[in-house]
Amino acid sequence: MDQQWVETMLGKLSQIGRGSQGVSRLAYSDADMNAKEFMVRIMRESGLTVRIDSIGNIIGRLDGVSPDASIVITGSHLDTVPDGGNYDGAVGIVGGLAAIKRLQALGPLNHPIELIIFAASESSRFGLMMLGSKSMAGMASRHTWSKAKDSSGISLPDVLQAKGFSLQELDQVSRVKENIKAFVELHIEQGTVLGKAKKQIGIIETVAAPTLIKVTINGEAGHTGAIPMEDRHDALVSAATIVLAVQSIALEQSHSGTAATVGKLITTPGTISVIPSQVELWIDLRGVDQENIIETIQEIKDAVSTIADEQETLVAIDMLFSEKPVQMDSYVTRMIETACIDENVSYKRMNSGGGHDAMNMAHLAPAGIIFIPCKDGISHSPREFAEPADIMKGIDILTKTLYELAK
Ligand SMILES: [Zn+2]
Repeated sequence: MDQQWVETMLGKLSQIGRGSQGVSRLAYSDADMNAKEFMVRIMRESGLTVRIDSIGNIIGRLDGVSPDASIVITGSHLDTVPDGGNYDGAVGIVGGLAAIKRLQALGPLNHPIELIIFAASESSRFGLMMLGSKSMAGMASRHTWSKAKDSSGISLPDVLQAKGFSLQELDQVSRVKENIKAFVELHIEQGTVLGKAKKQIGIIETVAAPTLIKVTINGEAGHTGAIPMEDRHDALVSAATIVLAVQSIALEQSHSGTAATVGKLITTPGTISVIPSQVELWIDLRGVDQENIIETIQEIKDAVSTIADEQETLVAIDMLFSEKPVQMDSYVTRMIETACIDENVSYKRMNSGGGHDAMNMAHLAPAGIIFIPCKDGISHSPREFAEPADIMKGIDILTKTLYELAK
């Protein structure tokens, strides 16, 4: 049984970038590169040929019988959020290699199989997510990316150059649709749906799209004792009312799987004895139903304007980005479902609230995502945990799906 191998690999990876709180492998950091170097060695020892493209994607390949047959790909990421856990991304890489090793033992299949470690999947360092899979799918935003900086002011182009990568050669990173047969990603759920439903596998139908809206409210500063209550234009009071409105609108729309959150708010001047003159707040909105997303955005915009009028403050609304939900491929999804039925594994068709590299790969090839449960839905935290038995079930289903695609 390869369970011991899988646990050892996840254990070794969890030591790379480990601090007192959790695992920190920010995109292109030394820890991130060390983890990738470690996996490249394991992939080569396992008989894969490995190449690295100019954005830093690592591509391990197991040849098939027909050299020209379209490629079946699995993959995920090894970069993490600051103080993250041991399973987000890593399960898809270690599990992907475990699945490929099993297929290798069966003898050559018709199609080549690739394991891809996507570069910079998490947005924590540069505020940009999934640089590797976006580049591969020809969806790179070179102009925006070239201006991105991390919290210490280092620009993305400088970071890339220091690691031997570049934004200048992204054309060589993008792949050709015709060469790829399918993409399947194994990932922890990062939510509570599977745990509540007591199912072993989640099969993703739609990946939610993120929208980010920035609202800037301008009021008037003043002395907190001298300005009478009825004469104030308090930007933070408007902001607080907007936060509550966002919550109540999203609660009403949640039947369609839409969620909205204000997670960041900056108050100016941010001093105890001054009435707040300006607040910037960010609304993170996600959903799987495009019509419902559009309706919710409009309701939020209307509410923001009404609140600003009532409070006599001025608002500016900036749509920072708004992406569309991505459907997973019905053929690949059915294939995963058949694998679950054949292996007698309980499963649930569901949507993914979080974004994954598969949503970019879906623009290149029929794509699917296999979820395994994680304890109490906790993720992006040192407390993230997935049961070894659940990881192995995920690998079983991934192996069978890859086999059916590549045989
Ligand atoms: Zn992830």
